[in-house]
Amino acid sequence: MGVYAGPVQDLIDELGRLPGVGPKSAQRIAFHLLKLPKDDALRLAQVIREVKEKVSWCQRCFNISEGELCGICQDSRRDGTVLCVVEEPRDIVAVEKTQEFKGRYHVLQGAISPIDGIGPDQLKVRELLTRLGSEGIQELILCTNPNIEGEATALYLARLLKDVPDIRVTRIASGLPVGGDLEYADELTLGRALEGRREI
Ligand SMILES: [Zn+2]
Repeated sequence: MGVYAGPVQDLIDELGRLPGVGPKSAQRIAFHLLKLPKDDALRLAQVIREVKEKVSWCQRCFNISEGELCGICQDSRRDGTVLCVVEEPRDIVAVEKTQEFKGRYHVLQGAISPIDGIGPDQLKVRELLTRLGSEGIQELILCTNPNIEGEATALYLARLLKDVPDIRVTRIASGLPVGGDLEYADELTLGRALEGRREI
C-alpha cells in the first residue's frame, strides 16, 4: 500500500472505505475519476457535500429527511396506528413499492449483530419505545431482513414488547428468500409477506 503519493493515495484510501469496494476497485475508481473532465468529477464532490449538508434523519422515524420530519411522517393521510419497523431507510423504499402499506415507519438503523458489536443500544430501540408511549400505535409490523441478524432483531423486539398492553406485534410472513435483504425481494413477494404477517 502507499504506492501512490499524496492526494491520489488519499483518494484510493477513502474509496476503499466504502462498502463493497476492495483495494482493487478503489484503485480502478480513482483512476476513472482522474481521467474524467474536471467538471464531471467536481459534480460528484458537490453532490456528496450537498447531501451531507442538507439531508439528515427524521427526528421521529429515523428515515432520511431534509427537515425535522420526513415526507411520510408529515403526510396526514398515513395511518399512524400501524408502524412498520425496518432496518434501513432503503427498506422503506422496498415496502413503499408494494403499495400495500399505508402506515408509518420506524427505522432501527441496523440490526442486532453480536459479531459486529451491534446490540439493541446501538439501534433506535429506545426511540421506538418512546413512540409507543405517545403516538397511539396499535400494531407493529417487524419488517427486518429475512437473515440471521434480521430474525434475531425481530425476536428481540417481540420479546421486549410482549408485555406492552394493547399493541399487536406481527412479523412479515416467510416466503421471502431466506438470507436475503428486503430490498432484493420483488414487490409482489414482499407485498404478500406483508399481507400474510402473523403475530409473534
Ligand atoms: Zn419520519
